[in-house]
Amino acid sequence: MIHGKDIHKAYGNIQVLRGVSIDIERGEVVSIVGPSGSGKSTLLHILGTLDKADSGTVTMNGVDVRALSPQKLAAFRNRNIGFVFQFHHLLPEFTALENVCIPGWIAGRKKKEVQQEALELLEILGVSHRLQNKPAELSGGEQQRVAVARALINKPAVVLADEPTGNLDTTNAKELHDLVFDLRDRFRQTFLIVTHNEELARLSDRVLYMKDGLIVSQ
Ligand code: ADP
Ligand code: ADP
Repeated sequence: MIHGKDIHKAYGNIQVLRGVSIDIERGEVVSIVGPSGSGKSTLLHILGTLDKADSGTVTMNGVDVRALSPQKLAAFRNRNIGFVFQFHHLLPEFTALENVCIPGWIAGRKKKEVQQEALELLEILGVSHRLQNKPAELSGGEQQRVAVARALINKPAVVLADEPTGNLDTTNAKELHDLVFDLRDRFRQTFLIVTHNEELARLSDRVLYMKDGLIVSQ
């Protein structure tokens, strides 16, 4: 489902990724752990086609993403990849419900169907009392859960998450784990998750350990 080969990335003089190769099969839940600054977020951005590698290849769902024009890449991303990034903010002018619906509307899906699924996701995630609120009116944990619902609305084949439980208390974090494994079992969605949460890492199919720009062990 996700294949990265010999990925290198530098920011200025800093070599952040030093030849990372990674293969993730459909329906796998994989955690990435490792010290701060080891390149985990950078790898996630490159695999998610938000950033470009200096060298190496990324193939997702059989598509070599370098071959896509910027427009095709944007459409590919919206249809195939869900992002849960801590710094990937919700749109402030829109309500929680609208924020979740937007990727579905962009994908050209029926408005009613998208809204129904958004309501179900927000219910499962325990934020259905916040449908008409704007992001600024939500707590950090509520914003996080809305962002999770938004990432899942198009049932993307691949979900990339950077510290998805970072703003959540233990109970909500546990519910998020349950949701991840439920979705994997039902739809064979693939999850790649950067996390410090030991419980989530323990439950994952595989844990990749990153250090100094390399995956050093599984
Ligand atoms: P991690 O997620 O493991 O904490 P990151 O991938 O965020 O690691 O960062 C790895 C290194 O790359 C850090 O030294 C960080 O400061 C640097 N870095 C990440 N993104 C950028 C960027 N856009 N510009 C410059 N340096 C960056
Ligand atoms: P995390 O805590 O999840 O590892 P970071 O705080 O390292 O994330 O990075 C958050 C965002 O800021 C990312 O999009 C990353 O690419 C960017 N970033 C990180 N370090 C730098 C930097 N030194 N210069 C510019 N952008 C950076």
